[in-house]
Amino acid sequence: MPTVSDVLAALDALWPPELAESWDAVGLVCGDPAAEVSRVLFAVDPVPEVADEAVRLGADLLVTHHPLYLRGTTTVAPLGPAGFKGRVVHELIRNDVALLVAHTNADRADPGVSDALAAAVDLRVTGPLVPDPSDPAGRRGLGRVCELDAPLTLAEFAARAAHGLPATAAGLRVAGDPDAEVRTVAVCGGSGDSLFDEVRAAGVDVFLTADLRHHPASEARLAGRPALVDAAHWATEWPWCEQAAGQLDEISDRHGWALRTHVSRTVTDPWTGHAPSTSPAGEPAAPAAAATPSSRSTSSGAPR
Ligand SMILES: [Zn+2]
Repeated sequence: MPTVSDVLAALDALWPPELAESWDAVGLVCGDPAAEVSRVLFAVDPVPEVADEAVRLGADLLVTHHPLYLRGTTTVAPLGPAGFKGRVVHELIRNDVALLVAHTNADRADPGVSDALAAAVDLRVTGPLVPDPSDPAGRRGLGRVCELDAPLTLAEFAARAAHGLPATAAGLRVAGDPDAEVRTVAVCGGSGDSLFDEVRAAGVDVFLTADLRHHPASEARLAGRPALVDAAHWATEWPWCEQAAGQLDEISDRHGWALRTHVSRTVTDPWTGHAPSTSPAGEPAAPAAAATPSSRSTSSGAPR
């Protein structure tokens, strides 16, 4: 049976820690490197429900995409607003579960987080959106530029993305002409709005990512291209968990490790509800108690 350190060495080869951004916090967070591993759980977020799931499963190793402590800490006490992080540390250590983080190193790897996102939406990757200059093969880097096998309208492409990604309460937001033709797509798992310059330079029809903010999205719309499909951050990164579990399965088979791998289906997207707008487009709804025909009027002066 492999040890935590054996599995770590194999996963470090898939997602070399030196590929991580300088501000990132990747690698082993807790766990005895000499402990044996038979069961591994992959998840996006190291939150308490995922730690509970790892314990319930009897996992010896939890691999998450997001760091537990990104900015450093002087305590792992389960107290205060960030006390859930300390609770996760205590629960994992108490139950002999190691925690490994593969974040921006998994983003930049080949295959990486955005390859998994592209595959989930049935796109053919042609190359990285921001190539890693240290990769002679030109396959590593941030985001991916992709092609569709056959053109779709923007509405059809958005429906395909909604079908291919795991469901979340908020679903997907779309910006653009629903009938516009889509042949090329840039994808970036997680927050992608820092990559608009590269997306524009790639000349793609659509940018599929998460966490797009008003101003960058508005500027992209005013420029006319690309159309935007904005999914939940968690949903764009979750396909990586399945890709990663498949990669570890192959390694396990090669070494005769007989590891059992699992992918968490717990939706850890923080947005838990969605209220569709019900007032007429462009108008705020009248407060129910004050809405008398004689006392309220629209901005044009017409009685409501
Ligand atoms: Zn992320």
